[in-house]
Amino acid sequence: MKFLRNLLFAGVIVFGLVPKLIANDGRIIEVKQYSVPPTIEVFVEASDRRDYVGLTIDSNGDGKFTEKDANYKAQRVGRSSSTAKFIIYNLLGSYGKDFIVSLWDEKVEDCGCSWCDKYGYHLEGRLDRFYGTVKENPFDTYPDY
Ligand SMILES: [Zn+2]
Repeated sequence: MKFLRNLLFAGVIVFGLVPKLIANDGRIIEVKQYSVPPTIEVFVEASDRRDYVGLTIDSNGDGKFTEKDANYKAQRVGRSSSTAKFIIYNLLGSYGKDFIVSLWDEKVEDCGCSWCDKYGYHLEGRLDRFYGTVKENPFDTYPDY
């Protein structure tokens, strides 16, 4: 009886922990825009210590987000950092354009796909995404550090 009780107890511990270990999906908590410097800042809850945040601005305005658009260098997030900061270049060409921010599980390098041909890597295993529009005068002011 004591054995069964211990077994049950162990089971509760194991099955209580497993979902936390395997089902931490990772998510985007908030996306903020600032005017000076023109910045899109992404706050995430990473799924593990090595996730990546990507930003694509639909620079050709065709409503799709492809390797032909303005793709910013993916930023690693995880245990040490939960924010990704993208300084927007080509400002005039970016205002009013739609963008997508995505949180990814994995970075794959030089696989031969069209993304890797252009950027040297592509991202896989999307955990979350956020759609927005690049504002010319975002409401948020950049905080002084
Ligand atoms: Zn690739």
